[in-house]
Amino acid sequence: MASPSPARVTAVDTHDIRFPTSRELDGSDAMNPDPDYSAAYVVLRTDAPDGHEGHGFTFTIGRGNEVQVAAIEALREHVVGRSVEELCADPGTLSRDLIGDSQLRWLGPEKGVMHMAIGAVVNAAWDLAAKRAHKPLWRLLADADPEWLVRQVDFRYLTDALTPDEALDLLRRGKEGAEERRARLLERGYPAYTTSAGWLGYDDEKLTRLAAEAVADGFRQIKLKVGADLADDVRRCRVARSVVGPDIRIAIDANQRWDVGEAVRWTRALAEFDPYWIEEPTSPDDILGHAAVRKAVAPVKVATGEHVQNRVVFKQLLQTGALDVLQLDAARVGGVNENLAILLLAAKFGVPVCPHAGGVGLCELVQHLSMFDYVALTGTTEDRVIEYVDHLHDHFLDPVVIREGHYTAPTVPGFSAAMRPESIARYTYPGGTFWAADLQSGPESGEDQTA
Ligand SMILES: [Mg+2]
Repeated sequence: MASPSPARVTAVDTHDIRFPTSRELDGSDAMNPDPDYSAAYVVLRTDAPDGHEGHGFTFTIGRGNEVQVAAIEALREHVVGRSVEELCADPGTLSRDLIGDSQLRWLGPEKGVMHMAIGAVVNAAWDLAAKRAHKPLWRLLADADPEWLVRQVDFRYLTDALTPDEALDLLRRGKEGAEERRARLLERGYPAYTTSAGWLGYDDEKLTRLAAEAVADGFRQIKLKVGADLADDVRRCRVARSVVGPDIRIAIDANQRWDVGEAVRWTRALAEFDPYWIEEPTSPDDILGHAAVRKAVAPVKVATGEHVQNRVVFKQLLQTGALDVLQLDAARVGGVNENLAILLLAAKFGVPVCPHAGGVGLCELVQHLSMFDYVALTGTTEDRVIEYVDHLHDHFLDPVVIREGHYTAPTVPGFSAAMRPESIARYTYPGGTFWAADLQSGPESGEDQTA
């Protein structure tokens, strides 16, 4: 009898999913006044008898999500037909193959829409691998052999700052005490901070109410959007500081609004309210600019990363001492493999990682990376917090759970990436039931049904 043929990836399905968040000004900041939080969503289907699928996505804020979806579809031929077992045993090979496509590479390299598409597909492969291993992703990574983890990282362009041997050493040391930390993580969770109080479009009354609620809910840090109008920012920072008192950290976030000199002047003008960090003070590509801002605004810390394109830019930010807080994003770079590189770089330079989250499902994804970092790499949560934003979680099958200002460690196998089928059907653009009705009746009468 012939042996059964090995299971293969049989399909790469994509979905253009958009939520009408702009109608409530949720997510509004100085550069993005009216985002419709969206996901370019991908499902890897296989013919394995276990029936598991790999789910992944990247986050956009509305128009252009169809471009992001098209970029994912351009990767399809690299994925369909792959052995499921080989893919899950070594997602790094897929990552290298996608990054190495000699024609698609011209659209980057390793940046922008194409690179985010790679991130979505690679993350879907990790979701599948974790499901098949019956572990949440953070646990799969934390349990993994350090040598295998090092092989998952592409060290090209990194070895002047971090060699494979150094990475191996960091991961071996990370194993010491990992069992106790895992138990502690499951018991206490991972610290979070909230951005939900501080969207730029919220009035002072809403800011006051939400900031007070955040402290009552156990958060030790909140974040305010700044950068549109200095007088407004002074007033909002004063309001927030008076509500939360002196012991709660207040981060401020300019979303790339300023030139370097303006960033320095504006941050200094808000210094009396004791901001903990200034986030994205200027262009995410301006490494030397960040270094200059950091020098000028200390002791206010400089944070950036949600728009940093790849591990090479992070390497330079670290090498030049341009940041105090590294804000990796689960869906901006090339997926888990590249984020392993970024976590290792941060560990080497001793810079805390406080991931960017919010959006659609970014909280669900990024918690796994921080939890791995705590259990099996840096071994600490000191000065480390994961961003938390309180909307759109209900659309996910395994939504984040926040308890007393902490992310509860996921226990469901996978990367927590899967969206509810009914949410996909409703919010697919433009044919889903919400958008079809909305586009027919005009936006004025459309009801916002987001969670
Ligand atoms: Mg930000």
